[in-house]
Amino acid sequence: MLVVMETTATPDMVAQVCREIEKMGLKARPMEGASRTTIEVTGDRFPVDPDGILTQSGVEDVIHLTQPYKLVSRKFHPDDSVVGVNGVKIGGLELVVMAGPCAVESREQCMTIAEQVAKAGAKVFRGGAFKPRTSPYSFQGLGEEGLKILAEVREKYKLMIVTEAMDTEAMDLVADYADIIQIGSRNMQNFSLLRKAGRKKNPVLLKRGMSATVEEFLMAAEYVMAEGNHNVILCERGVRTFADHTRNTLDLSVVPAVKQISHLPMIVDSSHGTGKRYQVLPMSRAAVAAGADGLLVEVHHDPVGALSDGVQSITPDMFVRLMGEIRAIAGVLGRSCA
Ligand code: PEP
Ligand code: MN
Repeated sequence: MLVVMETTATPDMVAQVCREIEKMGLKARPMEGASRTTIEVTGDRFPVDPDGILTQSGVEDVIHLTQPYKLVSRKFHPDDSVVGVNGVKIGGLELVVMAGPCAVESREQCMTIAEQVAKAGAKVFRGGAFKPRTSPYSFQGLGEEGLKILAEVREKYKLMIVTEAMDTEAMDLVADYADIIQIGSRNMQNFSLLRKAGRKKNPVLLKRGMSATVEEFLMAAEYVMAEGNHNVILCERGVRTFADHTRNTLDLSVVPAVKQISHLPMIVDSSHGTGKRYQVLPMSRAAVAAGADGLLVEVHHDPVGALSDGVQSITPDMFVRLMGEIRAIAGVLGRSCA
């Protein structure tokens, strides 16, 4: 980054700006030119908010020299992006809630849950037909049969479908059935999968890797966009920390951090982000308050009998309460929710 001083700036002003830069943990190196001084700033791994520097006396301009991300950046697209999926808009003033079971288990299971989440205001139905499981002996999903069930849900309840493409082989099939292709956290840096999603027409829900920095997360989105698919929705789903009171640590500060740099819409998965049913409502409220454009929530009518993630699945009754609560918070923020 370069700070360009005014031609009339005094040495005291230059020194003061250098002190301000160093207070931000960065290095400042003043370079005297024929008519003005410029200050080279190094150590900025992320784009620095220039406001603090621009308001200093004697500063004329701040120029970012390196821009690791282009298409995801607000510099290239100052307004918030809104991703449209058949009438559902993600990233606008209206919050969008995606809800459903962790895994598609059966037609009956999906229909039962879909009916209740649709009635409560969900716009998108989630459910994995291909499941990334820690153990190869756990339920792996119904595959194409699961995708067909999801297509029936869309038909019957007019809900959009989001479901995961776990590998490049399954991508074409998933893209044929899904409205939104989910890239799971374990695949956030599967670059061939990202590229393939980037060549699809479907919007992509990109989940943050469980140890990904903001830069790595946005670079993953850049992979998708670089292939021509600009309909990317980011999703925070918790990161690995030492904390053991939750399955993952839901990093809500990443929402404003990402929004400062990127125009892409961002939702929060409070189910995988906490791993505990009783934490899903409080953290969903917090996510909306932090500026999320929507939520991804696991809902199951029989969490105890669920084939995956029952302990973090909320019941349909809890989902109704959740919707009421986030509607109220949305109103405070000048937003709305169906
Ligand atoms: C999921 O949403 O189904 C899922 C497996 O989540 P994650 O990739 O965030 O673990
Ligand atoms: Mn799950």
